[in-house]
Amino acid sequence: MKLRYNYRLYPDIAQQQMLAKTFGCARVVWNDALGARKAARKAGLPFIGDAAIQRLVLTQAKRTPERAWLGEVSSVVLQQSVRDLNTAYKNFFDSVSGRRRGRKMGLPVFKSRHDHRQSARFTSNAFRLTGAGSLYLAKIGEVEVRWSRELPVAPSSVTVVKDAAGRYFASFVIEVPDDGQVLPGCYAEVGIDLGLAYYAILSTGEKIANPKWLRRREKKLARLQRSLSRKRKESANRDKARVMVARQHAKVADARRDFLHQTTTSIIRENQAVHIEDLAVRGLARGRLAKSVNDASWGAFAALLAGKAARRGRTLTKVERWFPSSRLCPCCGWKNGKLALEVRAWDCPSCGEHHDRDLAAAINILLEGQRITGTTVAAGLAGHGINDCGGQVRPGKATPSPAPPETCDARAA
Ligand SMILES: [Zn+2]
Repeated sequence: MKLRYNYRLYPDIAQQQMLAKTFGCARVVWNDALGARKAARKAGLPFIGDAAIQRLVLTQAKRTPERAWLGEVSSVVLQQSVRDLNTAYKNFFDSVSGRRRGRKMGLPVFKSRHDHRQSARFTSNAFRLTGAGSLYLAKIGEVEVRWSRELPVAPSSVTVVKDAAGRYFASFVIEVPDDGQVLPGCYAEVGIDLGLAYYAILSTGEKIANPKWLRRREKKLARLQRSLSRKRKESANRDKARVMVARQHAKVADARRDFLHQTTTSIIRENQAVHIEDLAVRGLARGRLAKSVNDASWGAFAALLAGKAARRGRTLTKVERWFPSSRLCPCCGWKNGKLALEVRAWDCPSCGEHHDRDLAAAINILLEGQRITGTTVAAGLAGHGINDCGGQVRPGKATPSPAPPETCDARAA
């Protein structure tokens, strides 16, 4: 499986200029290739194949005075740019023909010199990790890297990125063996209810506060945004103001990413099976709570859980979005009418149990997940079991079993 590792880069001034040139050339080659294919299509000519397009926008173009400067940067990067475009086309064709699952892919688009995120990809013959701890890039030299964590194996390519906040990153794609990161088995199992009042409530009763990254910086961002809008177009001050806004957004994104990684890592580490709701995030993100929903990044949370579960040998179950997790009594299965959003707790009219709304939802998600998978990690051990007919049994009334090990360190039998 492929994993991505990102590190901050600190190129010096000369290297920054050379990188700017490299980004520019990679962009021009991409645009030339895309333009040639679009023109061919317009003229009713056949699609220009991968080898032909490379000859056209690289080999032949370099011989013309208009494109001679392409020779100043690493040819590997330019070839890669054409290859990336070919991949984008392939994804589009596969998406149209139904060979590619997931979201519909659009046609590749032109890149602009005004894009605030620029990148270039170096494949193995154009970069090297030096013994001195820096990163050697073809035609650019040795660039200082902050190695925030160890690279597990030698990378096959590196993408150098300059983001809108003016920061440089090296992004490595690493091929790791599929079972290389499997954790020892453990007994714990958890249901997760995602929300806005709390970020997540676990069926264990643990509540994870909502950091509201964007909301917390909203005032400052609004002030910077106003300052930006007052600056004259194309002025140096406007550029400075734009970077200030981008830096604030980068801080929000960094804090959010750290939180999502830490939270999902600890959930996967501590539980053998994780059950969550399959939220229609795209739909929710259009409604009245759009800003908060986007800020919460539930989609990214679920995607990280899924990736880590697969990598670490854990199971992740998604409960259908129509499952009424917040309306069922986890003890007796009684189904409530719709609860108003402000109702935080309720008493079951059938069995009389008092429920914290979110905790009950998390437990329901756990039970439904167990029903879907038809098993429990250690049936009854956690106190929530499934009876013979697949119905839910009252927590605490499941068949008593030996106590589970306290931690995940112990290997499951
Ligand atoms: Zn009940």
